[in-house]
Amino acid sequence: MSTTPFNIKQLVRKNVLGLQPYSSARDEYVSDGSTMIFLDANENPFENGVNRYPDPQQRSLKAVLAEQKEVTPKNILLGNGSDEVLDLLFRAFCEPKVDNIITLPPTYGMYKVLANINNIEEREVLLTENFEPNVQEILKNADTNTKIIFLCSPNNPTGNSFPEESVIRILKEFNGLVVIDEAYIDFSSKESWLKKIKDYPNLIVTQTLSKAYGLAGIRLGVCYASEEVIDILNKIKPPYNVNELTQQRALERILNQDQVASEVSKILKERGSLATVLSNISFVKEVYDSDANFVLAKVDDANKRYTQLLKMGIVIRNRTTQPLCENTLRFTVGTAKENEKLIKILKSL
Ligand SMILES: *Cc1c(COP(=O)(O)O)cnc(C)c1O
Repeated sequence: MSTTPFNIKQLVRKNVLGLQPYSSARDEYVSDGSTMIFLDANENPFENGVNRYPDPQQRSLKAVLAEQKEVTPKNILLGNGSDEVLDLLFRAFCEPKVDNIITLPPTYGMYKVLANINNIEEREVLLTENFEPNVQEILKNADTNTKIIFLCSPNNPTGNSFPEESVIRILKEFNGLVVIDEAYIDFSSKESWLKKIKDYPNLIVTQTLSKAYGLAGIRLGVCYASEEVIDILNKIKPPYNVNELTQQRALERILNQDQVASEVSKILKERGSLATVLSNISFVKEVYDSDANFVLAKVDDANKRYTQLLKMGIVIRNRTTQPLCENTLRFTVGTAKENEKLIKILKSL
């Protein structure tokens, strides 16, 4: 256990702490569906479905999400994809040229990109050989200017989830923020960390509608955290960061959980058969277990196999340049038909 109690005010950038958020017309007055006449935001009055500014706090969407995830709307911040949510975290908590963050490669590339954009030092602590966090080494690399540790679980591109004990140790012993990126949680049999935001004031969980929910095109990312953390992010978020069409489509989709569940179960079935077939292909050396909608496999020569598949019209991701991922390929699980075609071609190589 760390000695000093967790204090969010000591983590947030000084300029952000004193900031008053921009108050938009739609912040000051929100339609309750009655017959008010809106002459406050210089909008075009002729109705076309999107002539009004969207709700800056996305109340309808948050109300449903809160109920489904058993949190309150005050524990939720929505963004233009989880990439925006992650960027807001950098801008709220990391002072350029002063603070640092820790990532655990091989992992999602955006943490590093966002660190670079925001001029924040990125410290990399490699995962172990079996793709697990090296807790000792992570804690050793953290200092008083380490604001955020990024844990991606299930991890991209390795597909595994991190052991509960490791995550808990980091949450308890690190005095900054711990972001658990759960972009793939809906494909995992492991429980989400969402329920734990009540227990750990430094825990932030991010999810997205881009993967299991099938809405990568509308850009909707979700951040769950304590009310204190969400309040700070609300101070700096652009007022209309989630557009009206996105709010409508997202709401429609999250209210149709049966459809989502049915697609996820098909993807999981395909993931199983793809993994089995891959492990029987002569040039495949290893197939890693996956809690996500992709399978990582080690092959004899990743560049060669990648190019061969490309020529046959199949695009996968070559991860060979990533640390610990030499000669690995990442296969996203497609439809049964797409996988059938992939398998046929793999067998013919
Ligand atoms: C795909 C992915 C995301 C999704 O980002 P969006 O901006 O919400 O589309 C986030 N994190 C990881 C690890 C991913 O692989």
